Amino acid sequence: MEISKFYSLPKLPYGYNELAPYMSEEQLRIHHTIHHQAYVNGANAILKKLDDARWGNVELDMKAALKELSWNIGGHLLHSLFWENLAPPGRGGGKPGGKLADLCEKEFGSFERFKKEYTQAAVSVEGSGWAALTLCRRTGRPLIMQIEKHNTNVYPAFPILMVLDLFEHAYYIDYKNKRADFVESFWKIVNWDEVSKRLDEALK
Ligand code: MN
Repeated sequence: MEISKFYSLPKLPYGYNELAPYMSEEQLRIHHTIHHQAYVNGANAILKKLDDARWGNVELDMKAALKELSWNIGGHLLHSLFWENLAPPGRGGGKPGGKLADLCEKEFGSFERFKKEYTQAAVSVEGSGWAALTLCRRTGRPLIMQIEKHNTNVYPAFPILMVLDLFEHAYYIDYKNKRADFVESFWKIVNWDEVSKRLDEALK
């Protein structure tokens, strides 16, 4: 990874039209180039403001700056994970294999049970937020989390294996207010290879 003092919008690992019909080109393009870009710009603006205040020896509302910084960095990191754990239908969807399948079986009893719990978590996220599959390194157990908004001033410590964006901007063009239909479509384009790769890294 190229090290830069500022954030930049990552390229998608597929074309804007490749997740259709589960995510339309228009929906994906706006989500990536407008919404995700806004978090990148927002984070960079606050970093710049912190730099300017620090080196210009100017007072700053720290609480407000840090809250806004966490909101924007949280948004940027979660979106970056989200794009990578999606794949065009055919390559994405289906069921996981290998260690991930074993872990689902061991923790949830079956893949179907895991899918049901994750779906329920996603559909019931209050307001705007995310559903995440994470791994607790202390117990070795996978945990499903609801991330509300993403400006809680906490940078999550559990490695995130998979996320699903449930802000309305993630689905309103394609699904209007039908969040459950969007969540159902997510299972057709989830990239299990990427989720498995993240599990391997989390277990190291
Ligand atoms: Mn989003």
